[in-house]
Amino acid sequence: MPDVLVVGSLNADLVVRAPRFPQPGETISGEDLQVIPGGKGANQAVAAARLGVSVSMLGRVGKDNFGDFLLNNLKSNHVDTTLVQRDDASTGTATIIVDANGQNSIVLSGGANGKVSPADVESASFLHHKLLLLQLEIPTLTVLRAAQLAKESGVTVILNPAPAKELPAELIALTDFIIPNETELSLLTGMDVNDLPSAEKAARVLLQRGAKHVIVTLGSKGALIVDMETSTQVDTFKVDVVDTTAAGDAFIGGFASVLDSSSSSHSQGVLDAVRYGCACGALATTKFGAQPSLPTKAEVEKFLN
Ligand code: ADP
Repeated sequence: MPDVLVVGSLNADLVVRAPRFPQPGETISGEDLQVIPGGKGANQAVAAARLGVSVSMLGRVGKDNFGDFLLNNLKSNHVDTTLVQRDDASTGTATIIVDANGQNSIVLSGGANGKVSPADVESASFLHHKLLLLQLEIPTLTVLRAAQLAKESGVTVILNPAPAKELPAELIALTDFIIPNETELSLLTGMDVNDLPSAEKAARVLLQRGAKHVIVTLGSKGALIVDMETSTQVDTFKVDVVDTTAAGDAFIGGFASVLDSSSSSHSQGVLDAVRYGCACGALATTKFGAQPSLPTKAEVEKFLN
């Protein structure tokens, strides 16, 4: 039974580079289309699997060619796909325009991701997994049910609240680790987050709502770990940034891959996992695209040496 279970989204990312974003009603020419496997759930599953962890993915794709493409991609990254169902809805897609400055503009089409149901997670066994990884690209009720079942089985729950949306109080209280970026933290708490003190203050609100640890990812400023007793800022690594897509997914895959769930309440273990996550996030920014940029264990080890 794999150590990590990811319950989440699978998307085909349809990427076109263009000189600039088109105006409403305007047609412009871009470069050749690239079709890249993505979706925060699948990205985090692949991120952890490339780092040598055994990973299982639960989700849904369509019965279309993109569905075949995404399943084959997970398999070739050694992610177990037994719990990915084929749905009558289209496979989820993200249509992404990248301008000459490297800025993204994205339209998500959730498709089959919107059909991942509480019944789907109820049919899975949580007993033998160590960690459950969750994001918010599938229905929130399903995310909540997965967290409840994981808790009942003693599984560590890691929630990446992305894309940002409001959450039921019960879901926050079920998380061992909630890992938002600054924008997501601001939306979750209704507070401004623009520097370390404001990030810590907002993180403490999530602790008051019952999260055990909050880890705020801060882009080039690294990450901030906040728990009841302490708050620790962890620097990231200096790299030549090409594209920051999936930096957060790489961070979470890295964090999950080295977090020893048996000692998850010990701060040294959490600190080591955050440092490793920062290395993975930094490496992911040095390559273009989502999954193609996720580093392998060998690449991270070479980078850290
Ligand atoms: P998201 O992609 O979810 O917005 P962040 O941008 O905060 O998440 O990035 C996640 C992690 O990746 C950061 O905590 C950091 O460790 C690493 N990272 C992101 N951007 C950079 C960067 N420009 N240089 C070095 N590390 C980075």
